Amino acid sequence: MTLGPSAGQWAAAVAAVRSTGPDDEIQLICHVNPDGDALGSMLGFGLGLRRLGYTRVRATFPGDFVVPGPYRDLPGVDLLVPEPDAFAAPRLVLVFDVASESRLGALAARVADTPASVVLDHHASNTGFGGVQLVDPRAAATSVVADGLLSRLGVPLDAEIAECLYVALATDTGSFKFDMTTVSVHELAARLIATGIRPGEISRRIFDSKPFGAMKLTGEVIGRAVLEPDAAGGRGMVWTYATLADLARHGQPPYVLDALIDPVRSVAEADVSVVVKQVAPGEWSVSLRSKGAVDVSGVAVSQGGGGHRLAAGFTGYGEAAEVVDTVRLLLDEHLN
Ligand code: 5GP
Ligand code: MN
Repeated sequence: MTLGPSAGQWAAAVAAVRSTGPDDEIQLICHVNPDGDALGSMLGFGLGLRRLGYTRVRATFPGDFVVPGPYRDLPGVDLLVPEPDAFAAPRLVLVFDVASESRLGALAARVADTPASVVLDHHASNTGFGGVQLVDPRAAATSVVADGLLSRLGVPLDAEIAECLYVALATDTGSFKFDMTTVSVHELAARLIATGIRPGEISRRIFDSKPFGAMKLTGEVIGRAVLEPDAAGGRGMVWTYATLADLARHGQPPYVLDALIDPVRSVAEADVSVVVKQVAPGEWSVSLRSKGAVDVSGVAVSQGGGGHRLAAGFTGYGEAAEVVDTVRLLLDEHLN
């Protein structure tokens, strides 16, 4: 179950790309509300296709065309188009960092309708959609899978491709801190840095550069965090929430809330951390993290979401407190 792609799957993915003509339309797609891995692996791979001579490559993601500020300067960002401008009937579709079709919105049909499709992903909860599946749950980021396919296609890493793959790897490993940070992760990072990219400069831009309003908003949301030492079978849970009104008051876009889980999950007294982020009236995007005692992907999947054992998410409905009540109950169920 935890095995990565087979030799046959790699060969099928290479054949799918190679059987595409240089002027055929190739559409790249990543998940809704894209993060560093989704954008970095997709744009890095798109640049690789350009190096191979493919002239008609577009990249997109479903929903509002908002690229989080830190990713707007990624190399290859010119490949990005809003969802309505994606190729209507591409010859080949490649999908990045998407565990299930629900994360593709209306673009799920584009994948289903395209004869040749390749899914590059690293979620254990991947549902197995698409034509060729390159899904490696042992990979720390989808960019590890993207690097594997680029090298099999004979694309050498250059600084632009490397910057994209590095951003993807650094974001999904929490700057090389998480459990998935293996020898091979550092070996890939070394190969990427060897192209001449500047990790210090990239990290400052991606992680350590935010508007003053985002800092004030973070302070407010952290200030209302609640610690429940008895939750999660006594392993402890810490949670907080942020509303659309909070965002409006500080003049911030929704994506600034995605970084909030990091300070929240640093609380020593809790194994599980939860951030409930309002996306619409009565609708919340829920981020779950565990330090190891609890498999939070089980909780997320039971609510129609997905993710990894220690990092997962789902969409919750009702009041924020009701969503937290649900998580509290599910944690107890999953532990018993
Ligand atoms: P985050 O909390 O950073 O948004 O997401 C953590 C992990 O859970 C990521 O791997 C992400 O792909 C997954 N995830 C978050 N929300 C959802 C969701 O609504 N559905 C699915 N399938 N996965 C999600
Ligand atoms: Mn990822």
